[in-house]
Amino acid sequence: MAPVLQIAALNDHALIHGFSTMELGSVGLTHAKNPEAVRDARRRFAAALNLDPDTLTVAGAVHGEQVARVDEPTDSIEGVDALITDRPGIALFATYADCYPIVLWDPKHRAAGLVHAGWRGTEAHVATAALAEMAKQFGTKPEDVKAGIGPGICGNCYEVGADVAERFDQTFVKHSTGDRYQLDLAAANTAQLNAAGVRDVFNLDLCTKETEALPSHRRDHDGRRFGAIVALR
Ligand SMILES: [Zn+2]
Repeated sequence: MAPVLQIAALNDHALIHGFSTMELGSVGLTHAKNPEAVRDARRRFAAALNLDPDTLTVAGAVHGEQVARVDEPTDSIEGVDALITDRPGIALFATYADCYPIVLWDPKHRAAGLVHAGWRGTEAHVATAALAEMAKQFGTKPEDVKAGIGPGICGNCYEVGADVAERFDQTFVKHSTGDRYQLDLAAANTAQLNAAGVRDVFNLDLCTKETEALPSHRRDHDGRRFGAIVALR
């Protein structure tokens, strides 16, 4: 697998985006035994996309729906699950292992966003919260936006209990066995974006739990994370 994955439909001269694989190493600091190796992997990831590693701006995700506008590179912004910017050269960054990275790209206003969506963020509509903030800050119109859903745990692999399943529209839930249910977070986020007026939602369709080259919390519980970067050129 390539060191960095991209969604072909988002390729644009003005947008940089990518998802790191284990070929670059884990980029998750929280449970890292060797933080320096993680910082090196993050820098390699930025460099692979021709971005200055010093511009990496981390969303200190907490599974909520808070959005931060980024006007200059900042080490880490705590308590937010989405970053948006209209400034070129800033590498918006977040880490994942089964949760979904979602890229928002407004070519008309040259603005972009990066979202972190697990079940809590999806229930809280974090992707459309980021879209609404882009509208407020940059004048983004949903119909101009191209959205990309990166790697995450698929609707067959993501088993949850009834307590989680019942929080979602049953369109996205299948009964598994006993009191277990399968939840399709990619479909739920796609539906939320569509309902908000985004017509173009591109899904990489790559399951973290089924892909060895990507970290999966459900598969390994080992603290490894892959990263997503979004930046404007
Ligand atoms: Zn799967």
